[in-house]
Amino acid sequence: MADSAQRTPETFDVIVVGAGNAAFTAALAARAEGVRVLVLEKATQKLRGGNTRFTGGLFRCTYNGIDDLMALIGANDDPSDVAVDPYTQEDFQHDIDRVTSGQADPALTHTLITRSYDTVRWMAALGVAWEFNRAVGPVRIAGSHKIKLARGGALRAKGEGVLLSSALFRLATEADIPVWYETQAQRILTAADGRVAGLAIRDPSGLRTVACNALVLASGGFQANPEMRTAYLGPSWSVVKVRGSRFNTGEMTRAALSIGAQSYGEWAGCHATPIDADAPAYGDLRLTDKTNRLSYPFSVMVNLDGERFVDEGEDFNLYTYARMGRDILQQRSATIFQVFDQQTVSLLETRYNTGTPIIADSLTELAARIEERYAALDFRRDAFQTTLEAYNAAVQDGSFDPDRKDGKRTRGLRPEKTNWATRLDQPPFYAYPVSLGITFTFGGLRINTEAAVVDHLDRPIPGLFATGEMTGGFFYRNYPGGSGLMRGAVFGRLAGTHAARWARGE
Ligand SMILES: Cc1cc2nc3c(=O)[nH]c(=O)nc-3n(C[C@H](O)[C@H](O)[C@H](O)COP(=O)(O)OP(=O)(O)OC[C@H]3O[C@@H](n4cnc5c(N)ncnc54)[C@H](O)[C@@H]3O)c2cc1C
Repeated sequence: MADSAQRTPETFDVIVVGAGNAAFTAALAARAEGVRVLVLEKATQKLRGGNTRFTGGLFRCTYNGIDDLMALIGANDDPSDVAVDPYTQEDFQHDIDRVTSGQADPALTHTLITRSYDTVRWMAALGVAWEFNRAVGPVRIAGSHKIKLARGGALRAKGEGVLLSSALFRLATEADIPVWYETQAQRILTAADGRVAGLAIRDPSGLRTVACNALVLASGGFQANPEMRTAYLGPSWSVVKVRGSRFNTGEMTRAALSIGAQSYGEWAGCHATPIDADAPAYGDLRLTDKTNRLSYPFSVMVNLDGERFVDEGEDFNLYTYARMGRDILQQRSATIFQVFDQQTVSLLETRYNTGTPIIADSLTELAARIEERYAALDFRRDAFQTTLEAYNAAVQDGSFDPDRKDGKRTRGLRPEKTNWATRLDQPPFYAYPVSLGITFTFGGLRINTEAAVVDHLDRPIPGLFATGEMTGGFFYRNYPGGSGLMRGAVFGRLAGTHAARWARGE
């Protein structure tokens, strides 16, 4: 694998900026066209791989049933304990439409959906290994030893983001694609006729330029840049925890805008989720996505003022988790508690094992213990207890079923809890302190269905392509889990193929 010692001032056909899933699908697709490809990674070799390395590896794609999944998974997993419902193109479209309130770009969405299965099959053929996703969203099938996997969420990269990332670096090495580490792309160089001609970069030797015929930008969102978060998401986002890489700071999005690229999508929007209140300021590669706290549909969530603030049971977590971070940010000190009792604590995702819950035998004692730990934040102990008692009194009879939207709800509260409302009456009680972490930003560059970056008249900027989290128009306010990696791969493959063809003069 190339590093800075092996750098030469030669011209590449295609340069790919970034070293995550979007970048490598582009680089591998371009290389398959027979052109010379270079990958630039701003991080050190040790910290390489962007957000992709932190992911749970979930890819949302269409499938007609278990056979379509086994065609990808092969001997990597045993299907005997799982069942799946088909996930059709109509299902995927419906999920995107409902979580984005119909705002997602129709043409880009159509491409994402219709190419999703074909793209994971292409990745399998390249050498990416797959397995079933049993970790997020499965439901038990009554009277059976099987679990039903989440609709559209049945597939993940084997070994999650960590192994996906190492597989992509390995495949790049095997395909003779050099990776230059500690190399930040800074500006896009253009010829007099407006076509892309290269990049200004900053590497361990200083500032210099590198020439290319086509450029694929795949350097992520701007979520790790406090200045851009403040400017676009709003002042309350200035200081928040970042769930993943600290290298995604938006400079190449700005560089593309400065040569006339069109901005697109919800620049004030982002994916942000409940995470452990004690999680570090940036993602920790030892924990990856294990700080998530997504079993809240079975909890009662209460803020430092002792108030509930959201319908915890509105939907399954895969359809609410990406916007739940914003609700938590609006609470004082962005700190809340998820409270469970013995009826629900057994339902917690195993990721809760990385946290330190506050445990007590009564709600009064629980309030006192939280107050001890959170005295500095002026926790309102009496209000906490009053709220939980009022919640218990408002819970309606009915049967609790964690595996479907059971309609077991409260009556008379604001907000109500509309599913999975069970009384907190089976001690010991558990309170998990939770904050939020930003995952990625929704606004970015406008691309067309060939992943070409377009200008203000919707014309492709000659030689410029983009994919992944730096593109806009896909997600608004919310996002169906697993669509980020899938979007990056579908448009990465398109970007790489079209960039290579452009570079060859086709
Ligand atoms: C904890 C966590 C869990 C997640 N789980 C999932 C999941 O299971 N499924 C899913 O679909 N999505 C998931 N996501 C969302 C995920 O971030 C994306 O879907 C996907 O990984 C983004 O890929 P990308 O290639 O666009 O960006 P990244 O993987 O972030 O890659 C960006 C790359 O660009 C590099 N870079 C940045 N600026 C420059 C520059 N100027 N010059 C050179 N290089 C630069 C970075 O170092 C990095 O290598 C998760 C995110 C997090 C943080």
